[in-house]
Amino acid sequence: MKLLGFSEEFIPSKVLAVAKNYRAHVAEMGGTVPSEPQFFLKPPSSLLEDGGTMILPTCSGKVEHEVELAVVIGRRCHRLSDEEEAWSAILGYSVIVDVTARDLQAEARREGMPWTVAKGFDTFAPFGPCLTPAEELDPRCLAIWLTVNNQLRQTGSTADMVFSVPRLLIAISHVMTLEPMDVIATGTPEGVGPLEAGDQVEAGIEGIGTLRFLVARE
Ligand code: MG
Repeated sequence: MKLLGFSEEFIPSKVLAVAKNYRAHVAEMGGTVPSEPQFFLKPPSSLLEDGGTMILPTCSGKVEHEVELAVVIGRRCHRLSDEEEAWSAILGYSVIVDVTARDLQAEARREGMPWTVAKGFDTFAPFGPCLTPAEELDPRCLAIWLTVNNQLRQTGSTADMVFSVPRLLIAISHVMTLEPMDVIATGTPEGVGPLEAGDQVEAGIEGIGTLRFLVARE
C-alpha cells in the first residue's frame, strides 16, 4: 500500500490492535475493563489504502467498523523503560479502522480460540489518509469519529483511552520488538456497528484527516 508522504511501498512488519481501551466501548460489548493492556495482531495483508474497497467475506454475516487512532513506530524498540522513551519512538499518527467479523469473533470466544480469523481478512484494516508527524500532533485529546453513508456512527475523544499511547507502547515492547513502520491501532470508542455492501465510510481524527473507503461483497 502507499501512504501519503512516503514514496516507497509501506509494508510494516506487523499491525497490532488494542482491545477494550475505551470504557464506553467495553460497556457496549458487555465486557470488563482490563487491568493491563490487551492486544492482538492483524496481518499486514489486512491493510487497505485510503480510497480503497473493503471486501466483506462470504463466511461472515456480521462485519463491523471500529475507528481507531493509529500510531506508527519510528525506530526499533525493545522493552521501552518509560513514557519519555515511548513518546520518542513514535514516527507519527494516522487513522485506522479495525474491521471485525463480529459473528466469527463471538464464535471464537465461545470456543476459546484466538480472534485471528475475525480480524484478519484482506482489506480489514483501512488505513490513512496520511501520516501526521509525531512532533506536529499531541494525540492525548483528539476528536475521533466515523460515518457510514454520511450518518454519524462513532464519535469520541482519544482523551477517553483507558491506557495512554505511551503505556500501550511500553506494554507491547515488553512482549515483542517494535520495528520502524509497525502500526498500532489503539482501540475504538463506542458506536461500533455493521457494514453492508455499497456503504461509503468516512473515518476521521482531529489534526490528521479523513480516511475514506467503500464496502463491497466478495
Ligand atoms: Mg479494535
